Amino acid sequence: MNVADSKIVVSIMQENGYAVTQEIRQADIILINTCSVRENAERRIWNRLAALKKTKEKKPDLLVGIIGCMAERLKEKLLEDEAGVDLVVGPDAYRDLPHLISTALTGQKAVNVMLSREEMYGDISPVYQDTQKVSAFVTIMRGCNNRCSYCVVPFVRGIERSKDPEMILADVQRLSRLGFKEVTLIGQNVDSYRWGNRGRKSSLDFARLLDAVAASVPNLRIRFSTSHPKDMSDAVLHTMATHSNICKHIHLPVQSGSTRILKLMNRGYTREWYMDRISAIRSILSECSVTTDIIAGFCTETEKDHQDTLSLMKWTGFDFAYMFKYSERPGTKAASDLEDDVPEAVKGSRLNEIITLQNSLSVKSKSKDLNRVVEVLAERRSKRSEKDLFGRTSQNKVVVFPKGIHSIGDLVKVKINAHTAATLIGEAQE
Ligand code: SAM
Ligand code: SF4
Repeated sequence: MNVADSKIVVSIMQENGYAVTQEIRQADIILINTCSVRENAERRIWNRLAALKKTKEKKPDLLVGIIGCMAERLKEKLLEDEAGVDLVVGPDAYRDLPHLISTALTGQKAVNVMLSREEMYGDISPVYQDTQKVSAFVTIMRGCNNRCSYCVVPFVRGIERSKDPEMILADVQRLSRLGFKEVTLIGQNVDSYRWGNRGRKSSLDFARLLDAVAASVPNLRIRFSTSHPKDMSDAVLHTMATHSNICKHIHLPVQSGSTRILKLMNRGYTREWYMDRISAIRSILSECSVTTDIIAGFCTETEKDHQDTLSLMKWTGFDFAYMFKYSERPGTKAASDLEDDVPEAVKGSRLNEIITLQNSLSVKSKSKDLNRVVEVLAERRSKRSEKDLFGRTSQNKVVVFPKGIHSIGDLVKVKINAHTAATLIGEAQE
């Protein structure tokens, strides 16, 4: 989401006569787009600010801005002189940046953290810096109306709103004309996408949007993220099955395998419901990968709850997972009503067990592709070797293979000869 938002910020800045530099020492303004989901993410920004204070001593005219979720959450604290921040701009106030920068240039602190009920930045075309244009994000909704008890997102990104489907289709077609080969439709909970009044014939839900997008750009790969287990419908799965250009990968964050913990998290589903959704994926889509997010050590989590998470992971056989220790976020329901009572060492050891299990599941997932021929969209050169290309399969598995006659942006048939836990290694078939 922040990657997509940063491109909108660049667009707004360029429209107002600013240019981007890849060289931080050349910059007159540094805007740091931030995340507040875990304390760690915020700590990294504070470290970055401390380093920038030294840079500012040498270059007093340099303006430093904090934009995004941390700006929204910590406005006052960021405005204190010690922080060394000149601008504080929330995720719905980017249009105001040029004006705020003018204020900051006069030596005053500039701030706008107003949240909006409508802002979608729908009329702003994100700027793609990359020389090789292969894969792009299209934001289809902003904000979140769920109230997962651990999560700060609804407070910092405001209420859920969906983007006009006409605009989404125009974005996707523009990307196709620009030569992109893949788009990912993004939102905090894409399954609650809705345009028009619920129940009306003319209203559009995510399944219908996905169908329209896939049909309008048959030569583009389509991905989407994030799905919510409580809302993911069979209709979405059937749409995926209908269109060969929709990638067969679903990111379906489970968070915990214990129904008791899921209830405390206010996730709106049980362990059995989650398993039912996985069964639906397996029966409607033959070759779909499933990835997830897991939180270790949420409030009151017992060893039994933790074992429930491990057993659900095994049962599902996740292809990949993002795994985190629970991090209490001020202002959330969990912070006010529940005690963060799982000791740090226990959180750490449970997280390690989760990571170890996931590594073995990831290896298993990769080994299924051994000796198979898979279709790979080449995204870029491999970081390890100039001679290799790096790309992904429809299932979002990373593949590295010798470049040969192929170029970035090509769809290549690759035979898989080996793998690590994270990467498939193969050779092109033609
Ligand atoms: N909207 C998506 C969903 O509900 O699945 C995810 C959004 S959140 C930005 C990404 C992930 O961060 C979550 O799925 C969760 O695993 C993790 N997360 C959110 N709040 C957290 C917290 N307080 N501590 C640890 N992990 C957290
Ligand atoms: Fe946070 Fe839950 Fe919304 Fe995801 S669905 S952004 S975890 S509140």
